[in-house]
Amino acid sequence: MTEAAFHSLLVYSWFGLAALVFLVLFFIVAPYGRHGRRGWGPQIPSTLGWILMEAPAPLGMLALYCLASAERRASPVLLAFLALWLVHYLHRAFIFPFRIRARGKLMPLVVAGMAVVFNLGNAYLNGRWLFELGPAYPTEWLWDPRFLAGAAMFAAGFAVNQHSDWVLLHLRGPGETGYKVPRGGLYRYVSCPNYLGEIIEWTGWALLTWSVAGLSFAVWTAANLVPRAIAHHRWYEETFEDYPKERRAIFPFVL
Ligand code: NDP
Repeated sequence: MTEAAFHSLLVYSWFGLAALVFLVLFFIVAPYGRHGRRGWGPQIPSTLGWILMEAPAPLGMLALYCLASAERRASPVLLAFLALWLVHYLHRAFIFPFRIRARGKLMPLVVAGMAVVFNLGNAYLNGRWLFELGPAYPTEWLWDPRFLAGAAMFAAGFAVNQHSDWVLLHLRGPGETGYKVPRGGLYRYVSCPNYLGEIIEWTGWALLTWSVAGLSFAVWTAANLVPRAIAHHRWYEETFEDYPKERRAIFPFVL
């Protein structure tokens, strides 16, 4: 089997897996954070878990960029793709884990392991397509409406994700590990604007790369985060009597 055929098989399997994960997550909430519980085997500190889970995404993408031909490596379009990916993932893997107030918090090793497999597969699918298997992007792609609209979505999603995580990370004082009702920004409308921002970001990525690999990542992100947002929302409503009634889970006014 050629690598192109393997890549194609994997990318379509990725969609099938995302559909399966979407359904399963309505019955089994991933056991970390507020949904953490016993019975999932050995646990590791949350901060370490986040680094292990997310590091394969930027490091894998960088490695694939280094393996690309000199011509592709010099492409301004591919450099723009790489920069966007790294802006997101260097923060997520190496800065975010140190910003969370996770003293004493643990996550199951199996959750981190599954995320490592996902991030390796996802970096492979996107990186190999962009840097080797897919058609080369001409420099004019940088002012193609699909690139411009996708980059605007990516930036907007990134800003929403960052701001929403910032609100959450400032709810706890030093040493605190409990939960409070988040307010302000898009929390006026939904319980999980950080997840909404993440979905907008990777939908923008699919558009700006105009690739099936990018689309598979956007679909995966939604398949993973929509059920989790619904679980978070239900948890907030059950935990806080005064939880704002008009707030939805993830999509303002809709869900
Ligand atoms: P959460 O919103 O569950 O938690 C984010 C951080 O804020 C955690 O440290 C959490 O603590 C804390 N926190 C959350 N709610 C409250 C509250 N009400 N009061 C006080 N502290 C709170 O997000 P995740 O941990 O699931 O995800 C973190 C980031 O990673 C998000 O930006 C998300 O979009 C991204 N992500 C992306 C995925 C993808 O598929 N692309 C998959 C998963 C995450 P604690 O851990 O103790 O609950």
